[in-house]
Amino acid sequence: MSILKVARMGHPVLRQRAQPVSPADITTPAFQKLVDDMFETMDAYEGIGLAAPQVHESVRLVLVGITEHRGDEEAKMRIVALINPEIRVIGTETGEDWEGCLSLPGLRGRVTRPNEIKVSALDRDGGRFELHLEGYPARVTQHETDHLDGILFVDRMTSFETLTFLEEYARFWAKD
Ligand code: ZN
Repeated sequence: MSILKVARMGHPVLRQRAQPVSPADITTPAFQKLVDDMFETMDAYEGIGLAAPQVHESVRLVLVGITEHRGDEEAKMRIVALINPEIRVIGTETGEDWEGCLSLPGLRGRVTRPNEIKVSALDRDGGRFELHLEGYPARVTQHETDHLDGILFVDRMTSFETLTFLEEYARFWAKD
């Protein structure tokens, strides 16, 4: 496995519409290696999500970290690969929260998004599955899926007043 180079804002690959993955390609060694390399890259950068265009591959594949709370157990993050994801918004409730992006290093900003979604996708074996997500995991999934359409989180900001460098975020905005 390899750690891949992450494209930063300004690289045209981040603004392209990524191509659907052909189901027949999913089980090929090349595609499986891309998935493995993205897992390793996301881990190395301590990201909570990663989209293939961010590693210069313009295909509809994202990884998202999903934190699940189960009773008294400590919340564990499960990383899920979504291929050709399709998002359906549930209800009309929206929420606003901070977002960052490995392609916009050192920046944070507040983004309003739908609070609840269902996402249908293929897994890395080519099987179809659906997730019902609320809150932060729903936000991460929308952020990553946006990358497949060339959309960055700053495009979703309704005002740049909260666009903040990490140092100032920690100093003025972060709540414990
Ligand atoms: Zn991002």
